Amino acid sequence: MNEKTHRGIVVVGGGIAGLACAHRLASWGHEVEVLEAEADAGGRMRSERHGDFVVDRGAQFIASGYRNLHALAAEVGLAERVRPLARAENAMLRGGRLHPGDYDTPLAFLCSGLLSWRAKLRLPALVFDVWRHRKQLDPMQPERAADLDRDDLAGYLRRRIGDEAADYLVAPALSATFDSDPEDVSGVFGLLALRFVLGGFRLQAFEGGTGALTARLAERLPVRTACRVSAVEPDGEGVRVRFRGPEGDAERHAAAAVVAVPGTRVASVCPALLPGERAFFERVRYVRGIIVHLMLQRPPPTLPYYGVAFPRPENLDLYGLAMDHHKPGAAPPGAGLINAALTAKAAARAWDASDAEVAELVLDNLARTPIGRLDPTGAVVHRWDPMLPQFDAGYTRGLGGFLGRAQCSPRIQFAGDYLVGPYTEAALVSGLRAADAVLREVPVA
Ligand SMILES: Cc1cc2nc3c(=O)[nH]c(=O)nc-3n(C[C@H](O)[C@H](O)[C@H](O)COP(=O)(O)OP(=O)(O)OC[C@H]3O[C@@H](n4cnc5c(N)ncnc54)[C@H](O)[C@@H]3O)c2cc1C
Repeated sequence: MNEKTHRGIVVVGGGIAGLACAHRLASWGHEVEVLEAEADAGGRMRSERHGDFVVDRGAQFIASGYRNLHALAAEVGLAERVRPLARAENAMLRGGRLHPGDYDTPLAFLCSGLLSWRAKLRLPALVFDVWRHRKQLDPMQPERAADLDRDDLAGYLRRRIGDEAADYLVAPALSATFDSDPEDVSGVFGLLALRFVLGGFRLQAFEGGTGALTARLAERLPVRTACRVSAVEPDGEGVRVRFRGPEGDAERHAAAAVVAVPGTRVASVCPALLPGERAFFERVRYVRGIIVHLMLQRPPPTLPYYGVAFPRPENLDLYGLAMDHHKPGAAPPGAGLINAALTAKAAARAWDASDAEVAELVLDNLARTPIGRLDPTGAVVHRWDPMLPQFDAGYTRGLGGFLGRAQCSPRIQFAGDYLVGPYTEAALVSGLRAADAVLREVPVA
């Protein structure tokens, strides 16, 4: 890329949002370069090998409803590596028992002992709300539901389905998926997630790890790793991007830039944001959290499931577990691999503890459940800050204002999961949209 003239497009951040954006721009003929702060691209969608185990850092699974992700995987020759999980059933802990939580037929659900009849009969209210507001509930455009975004998920669930169904089914399922307490996400976010799931949602994984997609994209693109960008500023007919790379401080001029870093980092990378943009970025929040991966000689016989959620009244320090050995190629044949997510409160308490202490905390918690005490051969602890964007009550209103703003920083676009939803498909969609916006400002020569 030329150093002095405003040529090409710089993408700041090599997560799935930035890589998908760069891929799309390159496929249209734009000259692109991705600058990534870490030693490897992939961000929160990366896999790492630990002996014979493949540990997914960040994103654990994909889903059949991830339309754009599937299309991109096919484009880069990875369609064959998308596989269903060997087991996709889930369970919920209640009163010292694990209750299978997948209710494919209404009859199976009516017979399950997880909820009382009274609680079961209140659940259709949620499906009714999704149906009633279906025109506003577009998971890929959450801002369209801004008018419905009034209360937090905890309040909404209690009002619509009562305490029991809220505490023992819906809230723990969402907490285990999005690592958040129901007070920290909005009711409308819950409805958007339900709409997505009702649209068709089979769990899948890439053979060899979810990082296969970001790794393949990074191989095909000019990605400069270990380059931390400190400033992206409008500059005449383009932008100036300053960064620190392996050779020290450097700068680039480009026709446009896409800033694809977590929303909480944007303001520090873009010193010249317009006041309305800055106000939005100051409002963006991410949860932080801890995930512990346990390697086992054998899968625990007490866990014939993929996911297990722990409702808050059960008083554990965990939102849930996922049996990663059901993902193709994640564990050697016959071995077990589990990941456990600490609750927000437990993660805050354990943030500065040693990895061994955090792993012990998880094992002690599991010993208090029917799962029993596990004896792992190894443990990997990941502390995430930022972990997932928080779509808390009122957030979609701010998001709508930002996306519809009349004044935009010239030649700078934004991408990242905080613009669409806390999952890979949503991050990827934000990247594709940023590429479309660049093309409108900077047509291919
Ligand atoms: C523990 C965990 C579990 C998850 N599980 C799932 C799941 O099962 N399924 C699912 O679909 N989603 C899941 N997600 C969510 C999903 O991983 C994210 O939503 C998605 O990967 C975010 O992509 P992104 O490109 O927006 O951000 P990121 O992946 O965070 O990418 C941003 C990139 O910008 C880089 N960067 C930051 N600052 C700078 C700078 N100054 N200069 C240059 N580069 C910079 C970062 O290093 C990073 O690589 C999970 C996330 C986590 C953390």
